[in-house]
Amino acid sequence: MKKQPVSIIVVGASGDLAKKKTFPAIFSLFYHDLLPEDFVVYGYARSKMSQEEFRELIMSTLTCRVIDGRKCSEKMDEFLPRCHYVSGKYDVSSDFSALSKELAMFESSNEVSNRLFYLAVPPSVFQKAASNINLAGRSPKGYTRVVVEKPFGKDSESYRELRAGLSSILSEEETYRIDHYLGKELVQNLMSLRFANSIFEPIWNRNYIQSVQLVFKENFGVEGRAGYFDGVGIIRDIMQNHLLQVLALVAMEPPVSLHAEDIRNEKVKLLRSMEKLSKDSFVIGQYEGKGEGQPGYRADEGVAPRSKTPTFAACVLNIRNQRWEGVPFMMKAGKALDERKAEIRIVFKPAAGSIFSVPNTIKNNELVIKIQPDESIYMRIANKVPGLTSRMEEGRLNMFYREAWEESKDIPDAYERLILDVLNGEKSLFIRDDELEVAWDIFSDAIHELEEDPNVEPESYKYGTRGPVGADHLAARHGSRWSEL
Ligand code: NAP
Repeated sequence: MKKQPVSIIVVGASGDLAKKKTFPAIFSLFYHDLLPEDFVVYGYARSKMSQEEFRELIMSTLTCRVIDGRKCSEKMDEFLPRCHYVSGKYDVSSDFSALSKELAMFESSNEVSNRLFYLAVPPSVFQKAASNINLAGRSPKGYTRVVVEKPFGKDSESYRELRAGLSSILSEEETYRIDHYLGKELVQNLMSLRFANSIFEPIWNRNYIQSVQLVFKENFGVEGRAGYFDGVGIIRDIMQNHLLQVLALVAMEPPVSLHAEDIRNEKVKLLRSMEKLSKDSFVIGQYEGKGEGQPGYRADEGVAPRSKTPTFAACVLNIRNQRWEGVPFMMKAGKALDERKAEIRIVFKPAAGSIFSVPNTIKNNELVIKIQPDESIYMRIANKVPGLTSRMEEGRLNMFYREAWEESKDIPDAYERLILDVLNGEKSLFIRDDELEVAWDIFSDAIHELEEDPNVEPESYKYGTRGPVGADHLAARHGSRWSEL
């Protein structure tokens, strides 16, 4: 069936997100013939740019996931003439009317024509832009969908305000709230792993699982983005959204179907059964410089000299339901650490009543789902070392994506999948308004307590290390330790 024509409008087209993620993802969809035959891409921002300059801007950031360079460049030659630019302000409705007029020219020969607005602008202009899309940008003969990016507020209160403001302009059906972690391949795979295999679900509970660990580490500091980060901190930037979304998929009950509302209902139910966090649930840290090329956080331009913004945080979350009561869900996220990775670890309880007289070097089985880099799933098991001894060591059941799947050489960027889902009206990977509200309620009090208590100081850690030792003490208080291997 022929796909309906669409105009994709990137609002904030001159910005970082548009260049780094949005345009490359749209091009990649075009390259793989996943866009409708009739489509046009419009950039909209205040900056003045000629069409040529705009196309140059897009071209300089486009990336091809494929090796065939010639085909890639042919496709670019086909893609760029479909890209246009309109300069306008976000708070002036007549500027959006001018954009709408241009779009109408492209749409004139089509009976149906849809509009997808991608808001790649800072939160301070979210509302104004959305309001003008509503007033002057809506498609007169098709759907209007609007993609919004985090941050969705700073706490429960500001989120509720944003929600009230946006819901009076756009319906929930029209709004697509992106958390790009949900578009990552291994996060996508969580539901298949849990619900399409018979071996995991019977042991996926408090009887067999000792702890669940969700870890995000970056081996570089805020370099360049300090202005944004200093007002936000790692808890809001990574934990309250990306890691909590992953946690919900790990811990939710099986949904009735793969329908978006069934999945999102289960996520909300799970989040509602979580205890709210307090400052005592956390250890926070801030990195200090180590040497050349590894400056401390406070040395960065854009950071207040006495900033207490956490660049590292660890916390333990509790789920009060029959499946998970008593199982610590441990989260850790930090910048300027010893490595770059994001992973989920399901740590199982040790085998009971050991019949082995020789010490076992691995006490707990673990299922590790490595989200990035080097996507993989592996299981840590105790195994007898081959030979005449009865010594046991850790063995691994490994599935490295790059070895197991030819397709893994070409894993789509999360944004590609998400934009494609917006075009298809598929909402399971987008966050529903009530889901965000509960997510904020879990974190909001703790964030305020940490920010407002004058006695709270982030623990220092050196750039390039494992982070503050307090995180190990936190894990120990919950009868656990951070598993690294
Ligand atoms: P950005 O580069 O700072 O801003 C995007 C564009 O918005 C700018 O090119 C500028 O365009 C306009 N703009 C900037 N500040 C403005 C202001 N104070 N008032 C009015 N217009 C302003 O932002 P971004 O990094 O692309 O991020 C866009 C959104 O995505 C933000 O909500 C951000 O939090 C979120 N996000 C970004 C990333 C990322 O990797 N960058 C990742 C996740 C989420 P003109 O001056 O030409 O109008």
